Parts: sequence; C-alpha cells; structure tokens
Amino acid sequence: MPEINLEDIQKAANLIRAGKLVAFPTETVYGLGANALDPKAVAEIFKTKERPSFDPLIVHIHSLAQLDLLTKNTDSRVYRLAEKFWPGPLTIVLSKSKVVPDIVTSGLPTVGIRMPRNEIALELIRQSGCPIAAPSANKFGRISPTKAQHVEKQLKNVDYILDGGQTTVGIESTVITLHVDGFVILRQGIITKEDLESVLPQSLQSIENDEQISSPGHIKSHYSPTKPIYILNEDSKRMNTKNAAFLSFGSSAEFDVKTTEFLSSSGNLTEAAVNLFEKLHSLEESDCDFIIAEPVPEEGIGIAIMDRLRKAAHKYLKS
Ligand code: AMP
Ligand code: MG
Repeated sequence: MPEINLEDIQKAANLIRAGKLVAFPTETVYGLGANALDPKAVAEIFKTKERPSFDPLIVHIHSLAQLDLLTKNTDSRVYRLAEKFWPGPLTIVLSKSKVVPDIVTSGLPTVGIRMPRNEIALELIRQSGCPIAAPSANKFGRISPTKAQHVEKQLKNVDYILDGGQTTVGIESTVITLHVDGFVILRQGIITKEDLESVLPQSLQSIENDEQISSPGHIKSHYSPTKPIYILNEDSKRMNTKNAAFLSFGSSAEFDVKTTEFLSSSGNLTEAAVNLFEKLHSLEESDCDFIIAEPVPEEGIGIAIMDRLRKAAHKYLKS
C-alpha cells in the first residue's frame, strides 16, 4: 500500500474545507468527496462525474455526533445497526435534518449516511471538520474505482487524490432504509440480508410496492466497461469468441477465448467482490474485443456481485 502520511491527509482536508473535490479511498471503492454542507462544492461533484441530479449522494461521517447533526433520527434501531456494522460498508437512509442541502439528497427528505472503515477516510473526515458527501469517483454509469489509478483514468478535474492502494471490499456499500417492521435493502452489498437479520427482521414491504422508499439510484445500466460485456449463457457459446476475454469464477472457458481472468480461482465470493471492478478496468484496457463473464452463485455476497454484473451487461443485452 502506498505511503500515506498525515500531511497528505491534512492537505486534502484543507482542500475539502475550501470547497474543493478530493478523491479518497474507502474500504468499498474510491469516493469523490466534498464538504456535504457546502452546496456549491457538492454541485462540482455532479458536474465532474456527469451524474444526473436525481441520483442522491451518500454522506460519510466519522462519529455518531455527525449522524445526529445530519438526521432527525430518534430511532434506536439505527444505533443498534451502527454498533454492529459501523465503521463499515452499510449506508442507512434516514430523514434528513435542515443542515443537509437539498442538492445532496436530490431533493428527497431523506439522506443516506455511512461511517467508512478505512483509516484514511475516517482521518480525512475528522480533519476536515465536516461530513463528506461522496459518490464513487468514476464517470456516471462507468466502472467504479478500486485504485487511485482508476480515478485518474476517468476524472481529470479532481483537485487531489489520496492514494491508499487497492480497496479491501471492492464493491459499494449495502444501502438500507427502515420501515416500521424492519429493514428494506435498496442496494445489495457485502453486508447481506442474513447479516442484517442478526439485528433486525427484514421488512415485508418491497421497494417496488412503495414509492416512498424507492431508491432513485436503481438505474438498470451502470458499472459499464467501454467494451461490451455479456453474461455467459447458451447464446455466448454460439458467438465468435476468438478475441473475447473470459472473466471466470473458477471454471475454464469451454470455448476458444483470447484470454481468461479470474474473479477468484477458488470460487470464493469475497475475493470475487474485491477483484470485480479491478478486473473490469484491466479488461477494458486490454486488446480483447468483448468480455464474457461467468455468473457467480446468487447467495450471500454473490447477490451483490450479480447485481453489478447484470447492470454492467445491461446496455449490451440484445432486445
Ligand atoms: P453511489 O454514490 O454511486 O455509491 O450511489 C449512492 C446510491 O445510494 C444512490 O444511487 C441511491 O441508490 C442510494 N441513496 C443515496 N441516498 C439515498 C436516499 N436519500 N434515498 C434512497 N437512496 C439513496
Ligand atoms: Mg457509483
């Protein structure tokens, strides 16, 4: 991991305080951060990412005092979740307080809050003295960054990048909201339904049936490499795959391919999550014509991995 010293973090914190953008590592992916309480700085995030204004940002905190500042939270279940999962890759959507600018939440009365588990991220938030709004540090719709070099490749106007090496989780946080009878998952991540059920029951409410709790970030096409990607199925076997790359979850391709990359050579889902975006970045830069990804089992973390793969492949689906 590259050397990060406190002076680099101090420099980044000064920039955040001055309304600038800083890319920084979290345990999930690199974030593009700005002072969450400064609407002008937050507007720069949307501009730099070319992110549509209807897609709300997650606000990153380092203490429960910041949670209390940002939310109208009186729900004791939130503190139980925080005790178990924070710092960590869980975002909780809660009623926002007046201090949160509307641009952060895309005009919604709710705000997504997370306390990241990465020491550099926590120190940056602490030294900035403000909560940090940060989406993933990539162009909208493209592959999320798990290394500082991935940020440099996609975003040219970032004021500063804190390089903390490769991220350890590799996919974005699990996003949940709370309903009277329990939690609803708005985005799948490494913290699974089963993990959450150790604290709270899952709500019987589904997102589709409730406009109030629907997540505007539920966009079908996302995380897309610049090369076409398909999920392995019977059709792929009829394609001319001579110049294709195979993104494997342990199996070898049963057809001719140019190259094979492994998400995990032993079929380990945690390892596959760590490698997913990293492999997609390297394959989009390789000389293959397209990518065929082997599906992973849809259980536990595999649900979040398949969510990302389906969205990456969505725009290349034949209708
Ligand atoms: P990203 O910043 O790319 O990790 O995406 C953040 C995602 O979190 C959004 O696309 C939404 O799906 C979700 N999210 C953030 N804030 C809210 C909110 N207030 N209500 C519902 N979903 C949210
Ligand atoms: Mg993102």
